[in-house]
Amino acid sequence: MDEPLVDCHCHLSANEFLQDMNDVVERAKQAGVKALIAVTEGASEFESVIQLSKAYQGLIFPCFGIHPLQGCQQDLHSVRIQDLEPVLPLFQVFRGDLVAVGEIGLDFTPWYAPTVQERNEQLTVFKKQLEVSKELDLPVNVHSRSAAKVTMTTMKEQGIRHALLHNFAGRPSVAMEGLQAGYYFSFPPAVSRNDQRDKLIKQIPLERICLETDSPALGPEKQVRNEPKNITISLEHIAKVKGISTEIVAEITTKNALCLFSRLNL
Ligand SMILES: [Zn+2]
Ligand SMILES: [Zn+2]
Repeated sequence: MDEPLVDCHCHLSANEFLQDMNDVVERAKQAGVKALIAVTEGASEFESVIQLSKAYQGLIFPCFGIHPLQGCQQDLHSVRIQDLEPVLPLFQVFRGDLVAVGEIGLDFTPWYAPTVQERNEQLTVFKKQLEVSKELDLPVNVHSRSAAKVTMTTMKEQGIRHALLHNFAGRPSVAMEGLQAGYYFSFPPAVSRNDQRDKLIKQIPLERICLETDSPALGPEKQVRNEPKNITISLEHIAKVKGISTEIVAEITTKNALCLFSRLNL
């Protein structure tokens, strides 16, 4: 791949990458990746993404965000205000290093956020971070699951202009609202597992699509660690669904990433 690629959403501070970060980064570079946007799920990862951005300067770019779901597999639960409030000052302290606020958003998966109170608390945490993004003049890297419509409405109400909706799986009519608001959409390698997302990929113009891997999750195979080199699988799938060359998809998605994440430089 000659065209430079940008992985607009990956979790490089995840424990899954502790052992072999150098190899993972090397393989990504060989696949043509020139920038990796490293999001966080919680404040315990903030230091780690900053360190990664210093160790791999000009290649790994950090974001701070508190995800709507907290904890690990067995203990995954809806976010609480106290997961965000004490660490809010850190966004200001590191504002010069950050390229976006994320991963933030809403996850109304019934078994993780069964009560109205939990969903409202997610909404509060989301809105506060949207505020921060406006204050710091940064784009947002957004997660939404079982909450596409509320996510979109909230972002529009808050006057958000620069946003990436990662792994978006909402209805096409809701995606249209996002397009009208100027937002971008990215798709991870997992979309190549079936044709469920093909309608959306067809409907969203290439000028609004970015590439992502969401590593270590959402890879081409379930239960196998995903890594940024698999970005070429997203690239190939989008090219196939749209019936255009991978070169064009690479060129335009990279252009989009640079436009949205204006602090990136390749
Ligand atoms: Zn997500
Ligand atoms: Zn993610």
